[in-house]
Amino acid sequence: PGAMDTLITRDLRAGYGAADVLQGLNIRVRRGELVALLGANGAGKSTFLKVLSGLLAPSSGQVLMNDAYVQGLAPHRMVEHGLALVPEGRQVFPELTVAQNIELGAYRRKARPAPEELESILRRFPRLRDRLDTPAGLLSGGEQQMMAIARGLMASPKLLLLDEPSLGLAPAMTEELYRILAELRDDGITILLVDQMATLALAVADRGYVLEQGRVVAEGSAEELRRDTALIEAYLGQG
Ligand code: ATP
Repeated sequence: PGAMDTLITRDLRAGYGAADVLQGLNIRVRRGELVALLGANGAGKSTFLKVLSGLLAPSSGQVLMNDAYVQGLAPHRMVEHGLALVPEGRQVFPELTVAQNIELGAYRRKARPAPEELESILRRFPRLRDRLDTPAGLLSGGEQQMMAIARGLMASPKLLLLDEPSLGLAPAMTEELYRILAELRDDGITILLVDQMATLALAVADRGYVLEQGRVVAEGSAEELRRDTALIEAYLGQG
């Protein structure tokens, strides 16, 4: 593996019973990249994230995180290797304040996070900074998504995994959120963005992969994929 690679999967297969859903995935995320993983409903995107977060053991193949083999490890070990999943649906604790929800992201650490760490994360989320003492249940859907991402960042991940962060958000909020993702990437954070919104995701990503029935059917720079309208129509529908 190259020194620049954070994540590599090799011929990764996984499923829920007799048949594999993932049919041999070779995916690579380099340090500092924002990579989009695209595909229609049922293509296998969530299954891939389950394997990366330790919720599902692969049936064969390898996952390397910074040159360590991590396939099949338990979720807490995946976190130790720097994989942090921000799940679809966000898992907000509505009665806790925004600050408390975010600080929960550091719960696995031995040392308490320094206050300047929270401050540096909040720099990218001005909406949250203004509402730190508000019960999280009172936030809008988009603000809750931002909070979930901020919580993921508190774990100081080497790779932040985002599962459909735009789901259910109004277009203006989605745009704001994706602008923040691009800023986080510019800050040096490595991101794998799983999304059905191909056009939006490819507007901020560096590279992308398109999944169909558990296989990679296209990969390339975000610009190449964006220009391939036939591809977007065939696999990504409305985009
Ligand atoms: P979505 O955007 O709907 O989440 P996806 O690309 O994430 O789509 P997956 O959720 O990974 O797709 O599903 C891929 C295939 O695996 C589908 O055929 C789905 O029915 C099947 N599948 C998903 N979860 C399970 C499960 N727990 N048990 C059995 N089959 C499952």
